[in-house]
Amino acid sequence: MTVRVRIAPSPTGDPHVGTAYVALFNAALARQRGGSMVLRIEDTDRGRYVANSEQQIFDTLHWLGLDWDEGPDKGGPKGPYRQSERLPIYRQAAERLLAEGHAYYCWCSPERLQEMRAVQTANKQPPGYDRLCVGKTRDERARLPGFDPTPVIRMRVPDQDVPLTFNDLIRGPTNAPMPDDQVILKKDGFPTYHLAVVVDDHEMDITHVLRAEEWISSMPKQLLLYRFFSWDAPAFAHLPLLRNPDRSKISKRKNPAARLLWFQEEGYLPEALLNFLALQGWSMPDGREIFSFDDVVANFDVERFSPVGPIFDIDKLDWMNAEYIKALSDAEFVRRCGAFLPGPEVDPGVLVLAPELKTRVKRLKEVCEQVEFLYQGKIELDVALFGTGNPAAPAALLAAESALEPLTADRFDVAAIESALEAAREQRDWKKGPFYGPIRIGLTGKTRTPPNFPMLAALGRERSLARLRDAIAQLNHA
Ligand code: GLU
Repeated sequence: MTVRVRIAPSPTGDPHVGTAYVALFNAALARQRGGSMVLRIEDTDRGRYVANSEQQIFDTLHWLGLDWDEGPDKGGPKGPYRQSERLPIYRQAAERLLAEGHAYYCWCSPERLQEMRAVQTANKQPPGYDRLCVGKTRDERARLPGFDPTPVIRMRVPDQDVPLTFNDLIRGPTNAPMPDDQVILKKDGFPTYHLAVVVDDHEMDITHVLRAEEWISSMPKQLLLYRFFSWDAPAFAHLPLLRNPDRSKISKRKNPAARLLWFQEEGYLPEALLNFLALQGWSMPDGREIFSFDDVVANFDVERFSPVGPIFDIDKLDWMNAEYIKALSDAEFVRRCGAFLPGPEVDPGVLVLAPELKTRVKRLKEVCEQVEFLYQGKIELDVALFGTGNPAAPAALLAAESALEPLTADRFDVAAIESALEAAREQRDWKKGPFYGPIRIGLTGKTRTPPNFPMLAALGRERSLARLRDAIAQLNHA
């Protein structure tokens, strides 16, 4: 059997982290089995449709290094891959169910349905459509209150033998609640999710559905539809939901990390995020924590999922991201910093400072503040920052300037800077704090920065001396 999997995101806003989570494991299964992955855009809910969301889904998944074989952007033999372009297929399927007695027209107005629900709630009855329209012609129904001339189509849930248990690849035999007569085709001619997902998974020859746990409750409806159509259902695995620390489902409202773009904005490396996502409810057989997508492919097995929803632990992600950052070459690190630098150009000092920065930042976003000193023009010193000390700030700055002056530009590296400054300090018998503190402030105007030696090396000889001299001048005029 050729494995065919799909991801089926809805373009309802900027992409959810769960989309990447589900995509990761679908892609791993497809790759491991030499199968194919379909990306299908489930855009049938026109009220929630957001125009640029589809492109953001493509872009963020590509950013993570995930790819698919068939989709709206790639085409493929089973297209179109946007549900909004498949309306005749769903209409035909709904009509087949009507003809075979598995579906019926419902003319109930939204107001009537609302009243019905209010009564059910007040009487503590289970919610669900009361089947007023079942067995009625349009004319018969029109004579009753709450009639809407444009009908929907509802599936007819049988009174007996509804598939309320199914075998989940992760959870084993799994129960789901009794469904009511769901709308399958809406007034606007669009299908609802349940009809579209079943028709498309069948038409697209999907063999394995790996999707979020929240769809377990939909299984009876979907399995009924497979039965009505006499189609074989694919295998199902419901992946654990990612959870907030309070165990609630991760949502954009409660947690910025629900937005996939947030990880880009913060400067997480895509390979670190992918690794982290792979550890949510899943694990490597050898317990390794740092591993690549290829390792997931080689070791993927749905049985290695724990059905308990993992807590999304950003501290752990920060740790992992720091590990991935440290492992980058200096040049690659600078390349990745691109968008996080304070200016459009890459100052050459960033590369000089890279070994230092790589050990200091957990998210690339932090680089901006760390390298700001390289992008500053004239530094307006707040002389109060120097305080009073021994030696006085001007003496420290003068000593540093004359110690560094003899170094040549091509030997202005951390080791040479350190030995020149240390020699100057020891000669005068000064303590480190009162000597290096003023240098730091003189170079940057700030008290919290990366260490002086790499900072001086990153600035280079000319800029370093100019800043020290300018600081001395500003202090003298203070
Ligand atoms: N469109 C659904 C979603 O956005 C897909 C659910 C499924 O994979 O069946 O999550």
